[in-house]
Amino acid sequence: MKFLVFIEQRDGKIRKASLEALSLARRLAGGPAVAVLPGKGVTALAAGLGAYGASVVHVADRDDLALYSTKGYVGALDAAAKKESPDAVLIAATAMGKDVAPRFAARHDVSAIVDLMDLRLEGDRLVGSRPVYSGKARAEVDCGAAKLQVATTRPNVFPAESQPGADARVEPLEMPEVAPRARVVRVEASEGRELDVSEADVIVSGGRGIKGPENWPLVRDLQEALGAALGASRAVVDAGWIDHQHQVGQTGKVVSPTLYVACGISGAIQHLAGMGTSKVIVALNKDAEAPIFKVATYGIVGDIFQTIPEVAKAVRAVKAE
Ligand SMILES: Cc1cc2nc3c(=O)[nH]c(=O)nc-3n(C[C@H](O)[C@H](O)[C@H](O)COP(=O)(O)OP(=O)(O)OC[C@H]3O[C@@H](n4cnc5c(N)ncnc54)[C@H](O)[C@@H]3O)c2cc1C
Repeated sequence: MKFLVFIEQRDGKIRKASLEALSLARRLAGGPAVAVLPGKGVTALAAGLGAYGASVVHVADRDDLALYSTKGYVGALDAAAKKESPDAVLIAATAMGKDVAPRFAARHDVSAIVDLMDLRLEGDRLVGSRPVYSGKARAEVDCGAAKLQVATTRPNVFPAESQPGADARVEPLEMPEVAPRARVVRVEASEGRELDVSEADVIVSGGRGIKGPENWPLVRDLQEALGAALGASRAVVDAGWIDHQHQVGQTGKVVSPTLYVACGISGAIQHLAGMGTSKVIVALNKDAEAPIFKVATYGIVGDIFQTIPEVAKAVRAVKAE
């Protein structure tokens, strides 16, 4: 079974979600996979993908791929697929992956199975499952009889496994000139360059229970103690207390960290849809009946204005040991 993995990079760093997809391909194939890496100035990143399971990396290192364009990046994936004729293509279900996968699949007249939380081989067929109904149920999906199977994997669900070994062989990829219909003119990074919740291993989130934006320092204190990213419920984003990039949930980011701490968040189904698959969930809420406690691994019932500083203090004490 031959896997081709689409590799995403940002600011000169390979995204962890792509390393997870590559490691998964190696596990499923029982051997190395091939990869494609589009971008500008990315060639130096390619060889290191060998540790995660790539034997060959096709690198489309070009000026016209400096910024993301659907046509350009799908074009690179397409060119690599033509060269390698894979049985399956894996793509991380990041914002970029969610754009690339359906376009690529449509070009090949196949459907993509998306946002998978588990993936296995049954014979030569990929079978996976994905959350549906805001995470209340899982649907089992496969690619039917399609000759080319296309799947996207949810970030932070599959492990990224680095093994010592040979570097990947790096091959420059020839592809047709990119003539995008839509072009990204400029990317403006948000101020402060905060750790992105969709990449973070630990997230501390605040909800309406914090009472007002002036109380973020309360949550930030625990966030800093844990070295976490800052998440938020939609209620506080809609209230203008924090930027949408922090929102976790159905209409925000879907996260799956090792530790998720919900502070003053009720646990509405739309919030759970974004964080319900976190490995350990800690809920801090004054209402013992709050739905968040139904999914929490650990819960503290109490006023967050007292419990958050206590937890932050305990974390610092443990870290200092
Ligand atoms: C189509 C749609 C999409 C949506 N998408 C999202 C989404 O992506 N993400 C999302 O989060 N929501 C989403 N929502 C909104 C969702 O339904 C909830 O309204 C929202 O999650 C509630 O946010 P919250 O938990 O912060 O606020 P609340 O539900 O008001 O909960 C506040 C909690 O804080 C607790 N609390 C209050 N004071 C204290 C205190 N001093 N100490 C301790 N605890 C305290 C309360 O007991 C309560 O449980 C969506 C809704 C719809 C209809």
